[in-house]
Amino acid sequence: MRGLNYGRLNTEISQMSNVITSANDRTPTTLKAHLVTRLRDAIIARRFKPGDRMNESQLARQFGVSRIPVREALQQLQEQGLVMNHPRRGMFVNILSDDDCQQINGLRIILEAEALKLCRARLTAASEKQLLDLVERMENSNAGSEIDAAALDLEFHRAIWNLSGNTYLEKVLNSQVPMLFAHQALEYTSNNEKLWPLYHHRQLLDVVLGKSEQTAEEAMIAHLRLRYTNPERYSSLAYASPKPQAREPGDEAGAIRRD
Ligand SMILES: [Zn+2]
Repeated sequence: MRGLNYGRLNTEISQMSNVITSANDRTPTTLKAHLVTRLRDAIIARRFKPGDRMNESQLARQFGVSRIPVREALQQLQEQGLVMNHPRRGMFVNILSDDDCQQINGLRIILEAEALKLCRARLTAASEKQLLDLVERMENSNAGSEIDAAALDLEFHRAIWNLSGNTYLEKVLNSQVPMLFAHQALEYTSNNEKLWPLYHHRQLLDVVLGKSEQTAEEAMIAHLRLRYTNPERYSSLAYASPKPQAREPGDEAGAIRRD
């Protein structure tokens, strides 16, 4: 973790204020939204770098506002995964190691598979339409930036978590997964590459619609393999079934063992 450099932060924030205000064509409706936009753009532009501390009082002084809207803005950035809260140390720009990403993937395979299965069990015509619309938006997307593409991708996954009907499952996923999306989007942005794949979500929709040959766990692993090698490394599936194969429909529970 980098040390705190107030001098550099001061300079960067005042530069950021000038540059972003003139470049920004959005019209924030509230102070909080304004702060969120400016801080988000500064993180994307790497004026705040991964691991930099987002000091609440320092930012409040620089923006000439009280700490409350800054705190609220940082909380919103945390929900988007761009900022991470370290207890007793404060807020920092997202910094995840490869190992962190793979551990979150291990969690996603298990918990999102559960969400997919719950979503399938509770599916209504309205939720089917909601998911289909999202998949079609992604398939036709020309997202302007990696962050926009990541937001659309996350919107689909969040819809699945929400449609699981288990608010605690949804909360756990919402507290851990957005930072993975944000990390990846920042990596892609800094490499100046348009890489974010959005076309492959129909396979997850097929699981929800009961049209897939894959179990929910297998579909999640396949989904994550598009971007990671061995995304199952930190889940028990790496031990139970290193190479997931299609099973008989209805046998997906067999993929998780508690022995
Ligand atoms: Zn996805």
